[in-house]
Amino acid sequence: MFREFIVASAASWALLAQAPRVEEAQLRAHLPFLADDLLEGRGPGQRGGRLAVLYLETQLKALGLRPALGSSFLQPVKLLGMKNLVSKSALTFTGPAGPIPLQYTRDILLGSAAPLAQLRIDAPMLFVGHGITYEDRDDFKGIDVRGKVLLALVGDWPGQGEDYSSPSHFVGRWTYKLAEARRRGAAGILLIHSAGRVGYDWDVVQAGWGTERFYPDPPPEGAALQGWLSEEASRALFKASGLDFEALRLAADAPEFRPIPLPIYLKGVVNSEVRRFEDMNVAGVLPGTDPVLGQELLIYSAHWDHLGIDPASGKIFNGAVDNASGCAGLLAIAHALQHHPSKRSQMFLFTCAEEPGLYGAEAFVAAPPWPLEKIVADLNLESLNFAGPTRDIGLSGAEHSSLFESAARCAREEGLSVTPAKANPAKLFFRADHFAFTKVGVPAFSPGFSLTGGWDFPDPAQADLAKSFAESRYHKPTDTYDPGWNLGGMLQQVQFTLNLGQVLANDPERPTWKGGRPAFDRVPALGKLP
Ligand SMILES: [Zn+2]
Repeated sequence: MFREFIVASAASWALLAQAPRVEEAQLRAHLPFLADDLLEGRGPGQRGGRLAVLYLETQLKALGLRPALGSSFLQPVKLLGMKNLVSKSALTFTGPAGPIPLQYTRDILLGSAAPLAQLRIDAPMLFVGHGITYEDRDDFKGIDVRGKVLLALVGDWPGQGEDYSSPSHFVGRWTYKLAEARRRGAAGILLIHSAGRVGYDWDVVQAGWGTERFYPDPPPEGAALQGWLSEEASRALFKASGLDFEALRLAADAPEFRPIPLPIYLKGVVNSEVRRFEDMNVAGVLPGTDPVLGQELLIYSAHWDHLGIDPASGKIFNGAVDNASGCAGLLAIAHALQHHPSKRSQMFLFTCAEEPGLYGAEAFVAAPPWPLEKIVADLNLESLNFAGPTRDIGLSGAEHSSLFESAARCAREEGLSVTPAKANPAKLFFRADHFAFTKVGVPAFSPGFSLTGGWDFPDPAQADLAKSFAESRYHKPTDTYDPGWNLGGMLQQVQFTLNLGQVLANDPERPTWKGGRPAFDRVPALGKLP
């Protein structure tokens, strides 16, 4: 199969030698602009985000690309912003011995998927273990959870295997647990945070939930109250219930687990500021030259949004790596290709609202300007390497389709080795825009996306710098641009993506799934995720 693929595409591999080179000057120009304080962290529905959209649209026009959406470069995406008004909200957890003192932000973080200025909660609590229903696994055991506030562990049950991009791991994502609670008519759900299980600390949850939360508009119905409890706070709740948290957490791993009512009542009111607005996906097209293949489309994507300004500290989440780098990379590819069209058409897509839940990419695939069956693949640029040249490239996520073989060959042509796929409990496969394409059957991955490290740097100091991103910069105001960065690695990564794109945009054969497309349609349909 692999051999046939190579033979069939010999001509397109020959073309690769003439692929235009990406210029570092492009990265050096666009990255610091998009990460500048003046863009105020490119928050959804905020001025800095609108500036980013205007900038990207202007760049695509200046490159002579065609508008991707009729006569427009912009695709509006309807969103809902909900800000929990902490000082005007009060929630009390009452156990057998009276109220349990929990402190907002330190112990508990709340959101609400219902567009209500005021949400009243008056409900008993129910521990539902992992809170998962999938194939043979049912943590609910037919118990009616309507009107209850569920308490669920984050992460998977054990023994699910190491393929963290499989549908069974998707249902272990917290986003899916919120949706499951909603589908079952629960009054709310609180997730028990555990750094060991999700791969990030409480302060990352704080950054995402301590501020305005975003949902698609209209939002999904049900389970209005959503939130997180710290591990410590959860321990306190179980202790106040006379229950052993550690023992029950272990018990919840077993398939026989049944939900356990806690003798705790949650009562109070959550007041929120509700904001309805539109954000924009920005996209331009470089038309293909072949009358037949030109009807098909290869997409390069990157999200432009980040977390805006931290209302508590006033600090800007500049999002230099995440994802001004990806946008700069995409513009650099568009710049290099502007006078080098391929047989297939190529789209440069800058998505909005990725951070709150891939909403921009989901909206794109829900109303694609090209028929989905004409889209051959999506190559997504996410949080690029800022620490210098590497000897390798990670192809995680490509292994589901023939994209892997094409990518591996591109790597060899650029003198890069391929990082062996490794288990990734943080489930990054579900956490970048390529996943929205995968779900609807379009082969996609994010070349070199590797928040957990995995880059092979010749210099240990470079490796430490790369590691420092995951540890101390990711989704923090410290994700800022440093002019001293060696962008040699970013250049490699972007060139690699362009090269792969050239093969995919010229090869007569389209990428194909291995063993059929991943069965995300076997996951119970819950409608749009929160
Ligand atoms: Zn990102």
